Formats: sequence, C-alpha cells, structure tokens
Amino acid sequence: MPKTRIVLSFPPSLTEVPLTYHLVKEFDLAINILKAKITPGEEGKLVIELSNGSEANIQAGIQYIISQGVHVEPIGKEIVWNEAECIHCGACTAVCRSKALTIAAPDWQLSFDKEQCIVCESCVKACPMQIIQATF
Ligand code: SF4
Ligand code: SF4
Repeated sequence: MPKTRIVLSFPPSLTEVPLTYHLVKEFDLAINILKAKITPGEEGKLVIELSNGSEANIQAGIQYIISQGVHVEPIGKEIVWNEAECIHCGACTAVCRSKALTIAAPDWQLSFDKEQCIVCESCVKACPMQIIQATF
C-alpha cells in the first residue's frame, strides 16, 4: 500500500480550516498525524503520513492541500545529521522510537533511515555533540 510522509506549513488564515477532514472525505485517505504545532493566528506545522488510498489519490490529496495555500515538503528534509562529526556513541538511538537511528554489530556505526523518521526531534536534544538538527 502506498504511503507518503509530508510536512505541511500553512499561514495563520488556514490554521482553522479542516484540511485533514477533506483529505479523508474527498480523497479516501487515512491520515496519521505524527507531529503538530498549531496555534490559532500563527503559522501552523503538521507532519502527517498519508496512506490507505492509491498513489493517484495521495497525489491528488497533496495537490488539493497545495491549492489551498499550504506549503508541502517531503519529511526526509527535516532532520539533518552531520555524519562526519558523529562519535557513534548511540545516545540518539535510545530516544528514537521509530528506529530511524540504529547502531548495531559488527561495526557499531550509527545509521540513519530518513524514511522511518517522524521528526519528533528527540535525538536533537539527546546528541552530546549537537550534530543533529531539525529545520523547524
Ligand atoms: S527526529 Fe525522532 S524519529 Fe527522527 S531520527 Fe530523531 S529521534 Fe528518530
Ligand atoms: S548521539 Fe550524536 S554523536 Fe552520538 S551516535 Fe547519535 S548522532 Fe552520533
């Protein structure tokens, strides 16, 4: 089943518009809200996973929200890990509940799978080297 994770940024005028309701009713999509920062009157951010429909329905749903004035980005751009500075201590893996960050035998080198990342930002605070950043 196709799945897409995206970040929605929308202006204050749209923070009270039921966009997710329209995605469910009109495009037959399932929506998993992974993260939300919405304050009435201020810019809103939503990290969502769209699934349940065909790839065509997902793309049609994304085009609908873009047409409403929402900026849409793929989720993978939101977390940046500076691999060159990493000391592979594993502290970030302890807080990564989606298993996007893993470290394992035989080499015990950190691995980051952007596809699994839900941009919870827990790793940003956990890293003693401060080499993981979120773009919002
Ligand atoms: S932001 Fe959250 S999900 Fe993504 S890598 Fe960091 S801890 Fe894991
Ligand atoms: S906490 Fe920081 S230094 Fe340690 S493994 Fe994770 S990214 Fe690397």
